[in-house]
Amino acid sequence: MEEQSNNPKFKDFKNKISKQTLNAIKTMGFKRMTDIQTEVIPKALDGADVVATAKTGSGKTLSFLIPVVEIVAKSVNGQQGTFCIIVSPTRELATQTFIVLQDIIQYHELITSALVIGGESRRSQSIELSKGVHIVVATPGRLFDHMRTKEFDYKYVRCLVLDEADKIFQYGFEEDIKQIVNRLPKNRQTMLFSATQSETTDSLIKSAMKEDVQSINTNED
Ligand code: ADP
Ligand code: MG
Repeated sequence: MEEQSNNPKFKDFKNKISKQTLNAIKTMGFKRMTDIQTEVIPKALDGADVVATAKTGSGKTLSFLIPVVEIVAKSVNGQQGTFCIIVSPTRELATQTFIVLQDIIQYHELITSALVIGGESRRSQSIELSKGVHIVVATPGRLFDHMRTKEFDYKYVRCLVLDEADKIFQYGFEEDIKQIVNRLPKNRQTMLFSATQSETTDSLIKSAMKEDVQSINTNED
């Protein structure tokens, strides 16, 4: 990803992004935000629902991980409880996102997270979820399976991210997503990311998001 020389530097957000997160970004070697990060991060930090469309490789992962980690950092205070759920269409994409999340939370000693994907032990995932891990990165089918068990308490969820939403629908997870969205607390922030816009994502936006949702599309310029 090429740096955009006129975009803001991460460290210009000292008042909005925690020291631990800024240190992690520095360790990862990033200085300036990409275009989509410049558009999304300030709005998401302010609590807005966001729909972001930007091509592959534009830096969407940090556009949601930074706000997610800041939301959780403000909520934690030593408490457990699942505050944010990030949904990815495939195990591979969920795993990649989980790895970047570990980089971003490396200096946040209290923040906990779990990867909840198909093909892995349900029981060990269930044990982790029952502890109330703060951030869950999941694939739709397995997440919904856990939502139907009493071990996973999702009533504290205040933030939902649907990453690669176009692929989530392409791969046939529309019904799982509807069920997941219906069960989560209504009073939450929702962010939807994809490389392309589609009719299915448009209809989900209407049902899952607040009316003043912010739409950002960096593919058009
Ligand atoms: P997308 O999800 O839009 O396809 P990613 O979030 O996977 O894109 O990011 C693509 C690449 O850009 C990754 O290798 C990532 O480490 C890198 N990257 C992300 N943000 C920045 C940044 N601000 N400056 C430089 N590189 C970045
Ligand atoms: Mg991505």
